[in-house]
Amino acid sequence: MALTSDVAVIGAGIIGLSTAYQLAQQGSTVTVYETGTPGFGQSAGQSRIFRHAHDDPRLVELAVRARAHWRRWEDELGAPLVSGDGGLALGDTVLRRLPAMQQYSEIGAREIGSDELHSLLPQLADYDGPAVFDPSAGSIHTRSAIELLTQSLGDHVVREQVISLRSVDDGVQVRCPTVVGEHAAAVVCAGRGTAALARGVGIEIPVKLGAHVRVSFAVRDGAGRLPTLQDGSDAFGFSGIYAAAYPDRSAYGLGLADSVDADVDGAIVDGDALARHAHDARAYMSRALPGFDPTPIGIVHCWVTALPWGDDGVGIWQNGPVFALAGHNLFKHAPTIGETLALAVDVGSVPTPFTPADELGADQG
Ligand SMILES: Cc1cc2nc3c(=O)[nH]c(=O)nc-3n(C[C@H](O)[C@H](O)[C@H](O)COP(=O)(O)OP(=O)(O)OC[C@H]3O[C@@H](n4cnc5c(N)ncnc54)[C@H](O)[C@@H]3O)c2cc1C
Repeated sequence: MALTSDVAVIGAGIIGLSTAYQLAQQGSTVTVYETGTPGFGQSAGQSRIFRHAHDDPRLVELAVRARAHWRRWEDELGAPLVSGDGGLALGDTVLRRLPAMQQYSEIGAREIGSDELHSLLPQLADYDGPAVFDPSAGSIHTRSAIELLTQSLGDHVVREQVISLRSVDDGVQVRCPTVVGEHAAAVVCAGRGTAALARGVGIEIPVKLGAHVRVSFAVRDGAGRLPTLQDGSDAFGFSGIYAAAYPDRSAYGLGLADSVDADVDGAIVDGDALARHAHDARAYMSRALPGFDPTPIGIVHCWVTALPWGDDGVGIWQNGPVFALAGHNLFKHAPTIGETLALAVDVGSVPTPFTPADELGADQG
């Protein structure tokens, strides 16, 4: 059997779905190849943080565009996709990031004192260090976003594993176990599978594979609002903690920003480290957030694909009609990354600042 359409999108995580949605909106025919269930790779879980705070000011600008785009999706898809509860960040790092955010009045980010902090997050233990509130941040409702985008694409999402890609005279051939696709262009958004597929068409992506664990904890007394939390302060014995609320505000999904190194084939270098991360998440919960029950209600293991220039790094590689996306912490930027990939296919090249040479999302400090 042969499948034909203008563009093949490999992977139905949030990036592939966003790309396909934008391509369809701009009038291209599209086929999304997904080996499993849409949204159950790196996009799995109940929620993600939407934040504007980044080291690289270009990512702050991208986040501003993405936030507006999420609101547009809410109108088009007919459901709330980002909570209106805002985001809190603790520690010195966010003070360094604040001036870039304050370039955009629509963000509204500001430094706050401990009284306001505790009124915004009463579940937090005593803390009087640096704190910033971003009122337009929030928790992304990941399942709703995945389901609504998948529905909107209907039978253009096909359950097939892509075995290989090949550039041919007039485009790209996509080989799967039971079908072969012929397309004018292909976009590889296969998460952990991207580097291997891209290598088959001569694209080398310097992605580093890691494993990550995220643990969920229930709010003790219910919460009227539940802002996202990033804690880089070390005030409670840990630095690099992040937490995003479930869509119904019943729980936090919480983890350490660190991941555990893995080899290219997925072998975990330190097998006990993931268990330690889960243990540390629980210890942090007990010390820092007494308003939550420290007994975990859920745990998500997931792969991280980071680029060498930073934890928020992102880039698009191209060889002829094949485009491949890689990076980490991409959920919040998905609408604008999808729009950029659709544009890249349309014009036949990767726009700035998404080329690998741009090193978008580079760490500073
Ligand atoms: C625990 C955790 C917490 C995170 N927190 C945040 C956060 O707070 N904010 C944020 O913005 N980001 C966050 N991220 C990052 C974000 O979730 C990811 O960057 C994003 O989901 C990646 O989406 P994706 O579409 O690129 O990849 P994926 O969701 O992995 O999608 C790739 C898809 O491709 C499919 N696939 C793979 N190989 C093939 C093949 N050969 N053929 C067909 N299909 C294939 C897979 O089955 C998968 O469905 C977090 C990530 C993790 C793991």
